[in-house]
Amino acid sequence: MSEADGRLLVTGSPGRGRRVVKVGDVHLGAGELVVMAGPCAVESQEQILSTARAVKAAGARVLRGGAYKPRTSPYTFQGLGEEGLRLLDLARKETGLAIVTEAIDATVAEKVAAVADIVQIGSRNMANYGLLKMVAGLGKPVLLKRGMSATIKEFLLAAEYVLLAGNPDVILCERGIRTFENSTRFTLDLSAVPVMREQTDLPIIVDPSHAAGRYQLVAPLARAAVAVGADGLIIEVHPDRARALSDGPQALDFHQFQELTQELLGV
Ligand code: PEP
Ligand code: MN
Repeated sequence: MSEADGRLLVTGSPGRGRRVVKVGDVHLGAGELVVMAGPCAVESQEQILSTARAVKAAGARVLRGGAYKPRTSPYTFQGLGEEGLRLLDLARKETGLAIVTEAIDATVAEKVAAVADIVQIGSRNMANYGLLKMVAGLGKPVLLKRGMSATIKEFLLAAEYVLLAGNPDVILCERGIRTFENSTRFTLDLSAVPVMREQTDLPIIVDPSHAAGRYQLVAPLARAAVAVGADGLIIEVHPDRARALSDGPQALDFHQFQELTQELLGV
């Protein structure tokens, strides 16, 4: 941020230390790595409950899963909608995991916030300022994903919209950006983590799954994210990636996820 931006809320107050976002007993930015995991999309009761049990046993604290999906093609699976929200609620009741799920637009945001412990704003909506202001007022922490074409400054100013609307609980998520490189789905901008730690006191997590685009790269990128100072990770996990209705190629199976958390969390 520039000198002129010195009084931004996203910067925090000097000497006050880093902000901690609390989601029940999960504390983001408090020094302990928080792992969020689950499928790209909620597909069925069996799929979400089995995944919730597996990721919980492996040490995840938050269950992810889209009920409403912002798919690149309108012809692909768009999510179960309200039924997906009901299944996430069921998974929380059974496992006690907190839920993070995406509000893709203003028409679903209130329904999403009624179930979610953390409302996700996706990469494609990072600069949807009307949606940011609306979601900020729904009383839940906001997981803001970096726009795939957004600079760090634009990303932090998007977070500023949520803070300025009176919601202090913003979790920033680096998820890969568009570059000339196309051997991965997106280019994970690892520099963004230490750069943002200089410019904001908000918690920062990394999504290695969407950056990688294939499951083989998820573990090395997750390790790297932790090494550069991420407060948490959000990782896609699916019981059967070959049958997944979205983002199957980048999903870890239960065993791969458990091996990764064993290494990163000592579970
Ligand atoms: C997701 O988390 O499933 C997702 C759609 O991510 P992104 O908005 O980063 O593409
Ligand atoms: Mn996905």
